[in-house]
Amino acid sequence: MIARNLILKTSSLKPVERIVRGSRTFRPLVSRFIAGDTLEESLSACEVVLKKGIKVTLDYLGENTKSEAEALAAKATYSKMLERISTVPEFATFVKEHGHEPKIARDPLNISIKLTQCGLDQSLEFAEKNFRDVLQIAKDRGNFVRVDMEASEYTERTIEMIEKVWPEFQNTGTVLQSYLFRTDEDVERMIAIGARVRIVKGAYLEPASVAFPEKAKVDEAYVRQAKRLLSAGFYPAIATQDETIINELKRYVAAEKIDRQSFEFQMLYGIRRDLQEGLVNEGFNVRVYVPFGDAWYPYFTRRLAERPANMMFMAKSLFKG
Ligand SMILES: Cc1cc2nc3c(=O)[nH]c(=O)nc-3n(C[C@H](O)[C@H](O)[C@H](O)COP(=O)(O)OP(=O)(O)OC[C@H]3O[C@@H](n4cnc5c(N)ncnc54)[C@H](O)[C@@H]3O)c2cc1C
Repeated sequence: MIARNLILKTSSLKPVERIVRGSRTFRPLVSRFIAGDTLEESLSACEVVLKKGIKVTLDYLGENTKSEAEALAAKATYSKMLERISTVPEFATFVKEHGHEPKIARDPLNISIKLTQCGLDQSLEFAEKNFRDVLQIAKDRGNFVRVDMEASEYTERTIEMIEKVWPEFQNTGTVLQSYLFRTDEDVERMIAIGARVRIVKGAYLEPASVAFPEKAKVDEAYVRQAKRLLSAGFYPAIATQDETIINELKRYVAAEKIDRQSFEFQMLYGIRRDLQEGLVNEGFNVRVYVPFGDAWYPYFTRRLAERPANMMFMAKSLFKG
């Protein structure tokens, strides 16, 4: 966790960002985690994933818009994504078979968005209007919108937003992070309304006043919260590449006779493809988070920080200049 925090701090420095963005050395690693600069490039990557029987959630990279115009441009891209997804054969067939029922889970291709990309830093009302517009477009097309969870200063506003739109829009759900002390309570809040939760460990740099600094404590909370969500129903997403945890949850599901179709595993694009395919072969639902766009830097540094081998690569490359 110390190394992780160090890389998150270092990579947020502007000179480091300039070097990483400008250097060719990082290109292969960037393209391992990012599916492309454009929507069409990312859809080609999605096609490969879908052919393996793996579902997709498509993410347009970007966060913390600096103006209303920027947020409106992001909304236009979300709209384009939903429109284009409707033409993907796997999605079109799914909607034909299941209709536009928003509560239907297991959709082959949906989107993940961020509220700070909808303009949350500009104002809550503005972000809510944009979010509702996106949800309406998705609803009309029989699609689902996942709201990613960002740094802890946004947690309460994100959960309140889901609770607020829920009476009209059940084609949404959010993400909860096990490293936050508050998450057991948030799990219950989302279960109370029946929203789909993606449970993750958490990827941001958080102070010890709000999050567990020890990895063992985060893992323990993750397993507890994932089990609670699996037992509650509402199609949770178990989003982790941690094989030990995945195996423990597989044993739990078998012991509790929980239907394999009532939840899904999720992993990030470019990470543990072997594990993704293995789970599909065992009959589990698996979804991959596929990011695209040129605002890849913050997402990329979070991926680097998760793995010592990635961090060593970055440190060596920076040292070489
Ligand atoms: C689908 C999905 C969506 C997510 N959405 C959010 C979100 O909205 N908000 C948020 O804060 N976080 C999100 N995350 C990130 C999450 O919080 C973790 O930071 C990330 O998943 C790494 O933790 P882990 O559970 O895989 O466990 P870890 O203990 O970090 O890793 C377990 C093992 O997975 C492999 N691994 C993990 N990360 C990497 C990597 N970057 N490169 C190579 N191998 C790796 C390694 O083998 C490692 O030993 C998401 C993760 C997934 C899978």
